[in-house]
This record gives sequence, C-alpha cells and structure tokens, in this order.
Amino acid sequence: MPRPFIAGNWKMHKTVSEALEFVGTLARRFPLPQERDIAIAAPYTALHSLGQALRGTTIGLAAQNVHWEEKGAFTGEVSARMLCEAGCRYVIAGHSERRRLFGEKNRDINLKVRAALAAGLKPILCVGETLEERGAEETFRVVRRQLKEGLNNLTPDDIRRVIVAYEPVWAIGTGKTAAPAQAQEVHRFIRQLLAGLGGEDIAAATPIIYGGSVTPGNIKDLMAETDIDGVLVGGASLDVESFSKIIQF
Ligand code: PEP
Repeated sequence: MPRPFIAGNWKMHKTVSEALEFVGTLARRFPLPQERDIAIAAPYTALHSLGQALRGTTIGLAAQNVHWEEKGAFTGEVSARMLCEAGCRYVIAGHSERRRLFGEKNRDINLKVRAALAAGLKPILCVGETLEERGAEETFRVVRRQLKEGLNNLTPDDIRRVIVAYEPVWAIGTGKTAAPAQAQEVHRFIRQLLAGLGGEDIAAATPIIYGGSVTPGNIKDLMAETDIDGVLVGGASLDVESFSKIIQF
C-alpha cells in the first residue's frame, strides 16, 4: 500500500510573503508525520522562495502546471526543468480548472506528464467527471479515457512515478464531497485500469488520491477506504489551521 499523500493546491492564492508565512507556521506547529508525504502546490511566483524555505523539511513542493517543451518561444509558459531548479518535486497535470477554463485536452496533459517525468518530477494526474457525465452514468467511461490518454506512451516504470488524483468536477470548490463509498468505487476502478497498464505491482504501489471539498471533518472517513491513498485539498489548504488538521487526521 502506498504511503498516504496529502497535497494542498493553493490555486491562484498567496503572494510570496503569504506563502512563506504559511510554511513557516506549518513547520513550527508540530513535528510533521514522517509516515506521510505532504506537498504544497503553489503559484509559480512563490515556488523559488518556497523551494529554499522547504529545503531539508519533509514538505514537498509542487507546481500547478507545466509546459511540455524544454524551452523556446512559448510566452507565459514554464518548463519542467525550470520547476525542478525552483525546488519542485511534483507537478499537477490536467486539473479540471485547466481542462475547463484553459481548454486543456488529454493529449496536452499526456505531453505534460511525459515532460514532467523526463525532468524527474512526479506528475499528479487529475481525472474526474462532471455532474452531467455522472448523471448520464458516464463516470467510468470518462475516467478511463482521461487515465489511458493521460498515461499514453508511458512505460510501467514511468507509471510507477505517477500519482493519480480522482477529482469529481462537481465536488471541487462546491462543498459537495463524494461519499467515501462513491469515491472508493472510482478509485478501485482506477486501480484496475493501472493494473492493466502497468501490472498489479505498479497498480498496488501507485498513490490514488481523492480531491473535492476535503476538510478536517471528512478526511478520516475518506482515508478509511481501501483504495484512497491520500487527498488533494483546495480551499481547506489555504488556512494553516485546517491544513494542519488534515495532515494530522
Ligand atoms: C482542487 O482544487 O483540487 C480541489 C480539490 O479543491 P477543493 O478542495 O476546494 O474542492
């Protein structure tokens, strides 16, 4: 079973000084649990300073996006190597906000996953259905497609370094969490798909984390499910109190 992985996604929140204050408070607050992997996905502007501040701690740094090219005329974009040098260990790929607001397709997301792996970053590949898709009983079809296309052309060894985040779009930022059993059903399905793609051992070792209105109040029940290996937390990761409680669930 993978180590629990708990990541905060700050989205477009926190200036550099706010970000530094947050991690300073978090690091001072309590001994961080050694048996859990913790990460913060911060805006680009805060990554370098956070990378320095988190050096030597057990909190990993994540970016929220990446471009797949190594360098070139791509105004406004940032490469995987730049993220590594800023101190990142992880990068989110295919968050539903990127898919919905910025038109990212599975093909683009696959290029990002591959670029991240090539640079030594662990991609956090987000998949999940909309409310309409769930209503039309298309959850499994949508998730299968996002996962297979997102992991296209990856070797089993590559898949071993990926984290999959199941984030039902209807649960993100809405206060509506998937019921633990509802999330578990999809996590189990993802585990089976991973077994088909990379083999049973890799499927068993790949963290499959849940995201969608996770709070200190529901983390325990979610984490009690067999195939939920961690959480990706948006809103509740912005406040050091609530993120601390989630880490220590
Ligand atoms: C997210 O942004 O990935 C997320 C899960 O947000 P929230 O926890 O606010 O629903």
